[in-house]
Amino acid sequence: MEQNDDRKLLGMNPARLAEVAAEVGLKPFAAKQMAAWLYQKKVTDIDSMTDLSKYARAKLVQRGYHIGCVAPKAEARSADGTVKYLFEGVGGRDIEAVYIPDKERATLCVSSQAGCRMNCRFCMTGQGGWQGNLDAGAIINQILSIPESDTLTNIVFMGMGEPADNIGQVLAALEILTAKWGMAWSPRRITVSSIGKLDGLKRLLDSTQVHIAISIHSPYALEREQLMPVEKAFPMREVLRLLRQYDFAHQRRLSMEYTMFDRLNDDDRHADALARVLKGMDVRVNLIRFHKTPGFDGAPSTREAMERFRDRLNAAGITATIRASRGEDIMAACGMLAGKKKD
Ligand code: SF4
Repeated sequence: MEQNDDRKLLGMNPARLAEVAAEVGLKPFAAKQMAAWLYQKKVTDIDSMTDLSKYARAKLVQRGYHIGCVAPKAEARSADGTVKYLFEGVGGRDIEAVYIPDKERATLCVSSQAGCRMNCRFCMTGQGGWQGNLDAGAIINQILSIPESDTLTNIVFMGMGEPADNIGQVLAALEILTAKWGMAWSPRRITVSSIGKLDGLKRLLDSTQVHIAISIHSPYALEREQLMPVEKAFPMREVLRLLRQYDFAHQRRLSMEYTMFDRLNDDDRHADALARVLKGMDVRVNLIRFHKTPGFDGAPSTREAMERFRDRLNAAGITATIRASRGEDIMAACGMLAGKKKD
């Protein structure tokens, strides 16, 4: 299921906005003016676009056009400052975005799909199935409509969904985020996470300069398949082969996300195998503590096991860090985003 609201201005690029402008008798340059109102001045109603004629604005409204900037429906605040926002999603499932303040950084973790069809066993989003793709406007809306919008320093596509499984809309959202006519963000402040869905990942690599984070979780194909059934369709060895063709030493960064499960993937044997698999790549490894989810038996690794794993990777020449766990008390940490399904 796809969102289909062709009258929503949020998510449109200048080419599409020029078509809309022509419909109401505006000159093509009005497209750039509209983009500036949408993505820089962040207006929430058409009447605020005051450099368009009154007649044109009235015509737009008459024809059913609207901005599409919609405030979150609900929020939950963590003791550590993390805020989880709930938005209207698609297909009867709401979606979530997580605001994570951290000293001088303020990161927003956005969703790209309502649910997910990758079915990773340990992830609550995957356990709830897939209800639909977000369009570019709904992705951008998460960034524009939260109260902290103007303070954001980083955007990560690590919320609900597999971005490479909705690559057209994710690329459209990234264009709005990074284009001069849009929000003019540096791609170096944006990270897109993927399980390695090859076709979408390749398009992402070819058409953007954003940082890439790949969910690996095990260096062994069979074990990875147990955790992530997509290993069968998109084997990690193919993903790594693709990644090795790109430069991650200069403009953009590559990281591997490794969720750590007690006595499942957290011993020396796994650390050594992971170091072997990643040998020669410009990559860093983020070690993530597993957050207990109802539908999965595994348990989180101990702090000692995580530190030992990190040190072993570092000794093998692979930069590894333990990612701080944020927002666990409001179910906002990695793997815990479930959204909300309507009955
Ligand atoms: S971990 Fe990511 S890719 Fe896997 S099911 Fe959850 S949201 Fe989808």
